[in-house]
Amino acid sequence: MSQKTVLIVGAGIAGASTAWHLSQLGGHRIILLEMEDAPDRHSTGRNAAILRTAMPDPILHGLARESLDFYQTPPLGFSDQSLFEPVGLFLAATAESSEDFLGWTGNPDCQTGAQRVPPSQLYERIPQLAPGIEAAVYLPDEGVFDVAEIHHSFLKGAARNGVEIRYNSRVESLIVENEQLIGLNVGAKFLEADSILIAAGAWASQIANTINLPMPLTPYRRHIFVTNPLKDVQKDWPVVWIAGAEYYFRPESGGLLLSGCDQQAVLPEAGEVSNDEAVSLAAEKTERWLPSFADAEAPFYWAGMRTFAPDHRFVVGPDPRLGGLHWVAGLGGHGITCAPAVGNLAAEWIATGWSQHSQAATLAPGRFPAEPCAR
Ligand SMILES: Cc1cc2nc3c(=O)[nH]c(=O)nc-3n(C[C@H](O)[C@H](O)[C@H](O)COP(=O)(O)OP(=O)(O)OC[C@H]3O[C@@H](n4cnc5c(N)ncnc54)[C@H](O)[C@@H]3O)c2cc1C
Repeated sequence: MSQKTVLIVGAGIAGASTAWHLSQLGGHRIILLEMEDAPDRHSTGRNAAILRTAMPDPILHGLARESLDFYQTPPLGFSDQSLFEPVGLFLAATAESSEDFLGWTGNPDCQTGAQRVPPSQLYERIPQLAPGIEAAVYLPDEGVFDVAEIHHSFLKGAARNGVEIRYNSRVESLIVENEQLIGLNVGAKFLEADSILIAAGAWASQIANTINLPMPLTPYRRHIFVTNPLKDVQKDWPVVWIAGAEYYFRPESGGLLLSGCDQQAVLPEAGEVSNDEAVSLAAEKTERWLPSFADAEAPFYWAGMRTFAPDHRFVVGPDPRLGGLHWVAGLGGHGITCAPAVGNLAAEWIATGWSQHSQAATLAPGRFPAEPCAR
């Protein structure tokens, strides 16, 4: 029996995880197409690397826990390094946000293993934190990913399983003939496919727009800053996330990695261009919450894109409007945390045409109201 050809558009964490999971199942010719010269030029190489499975949305929490199992005990041969460091994570809240915060962090469907702690416990760990924290929970198993190791392990494993990875291969358009998806164009070159997976991050909806299949995915720009080494920062500090204030920080390279959690809807072309307002916002929040570090220089900073569907849930599975078209997109701010679960789900859909995952319908691309198709 001839193998079916699957083309995956995008070699970020979504495409890499799906390629690895699908290649583990065997039986497909898989080609991973990446427009850049490397797989980590966009969101997968521009994030905060925080492993946080506690989330107000129980669906996303479930996917994060499923993924944590993978990260804690990866399959034999996946990687010989630890994939994350469980430095612990404090979620904290200001007076204004504490009621809502205590509601969802007290819900066992939204977190696993969270310990409600007095704010004094957080202040003991981070004495430089300014007053104003009214509630806190501590998650000892959460922490900081080695994103490069995870991403490269997916890609290396996929390549070992026979996946062909082509860089500098920008997909210009999908190609439909007689209402059937038959392939795509990389530059002027046509590649035939039985299935195509859109795993193109902030560009995902643009690719489907080439055949007039709209998908409501919006990229939002966010900045991250890394300060110079600071003598008062301990390298074993936990991750701290202040709900309500929308500010987070963690130790990085002797200094701090922090974000003021700016979010601005952007076109992908503008999503990595830094913006002065976001720089000021992060500076203001640092002055408010970590005043003794307010003058720290942050020579490294960058912007990246978190891409969301309107309901902030991932878009994974087959597109009911066109046979052979699949999605793994809209991973928002949790794409590294949830990559094993979403890659597994997308691979199952492609390989078997169905999914037994309990959240398959919740994440299905067909959940959005049908848009007219002008093909
Ligand atoms: C500032 C910031 C902080 C974040 N912090 C965290 C965090 O702490 N923890 C966490 O879990 N997640 C975090 N995220 C989210 C996470 O980074 C993303 O959800 C994840 O990287 C998305 O992966 P992706 O593969 O969908 O997209 P990408 O990594 O952007 O990959 C998509 C790929 O598709 C390629 N592509 C696009 N168009 C084409 C085309 N036409 N042809 C061929 N290739 C194409 C792109 O070049 C790109 O390499 C953060 C994101 C940002 C921006």
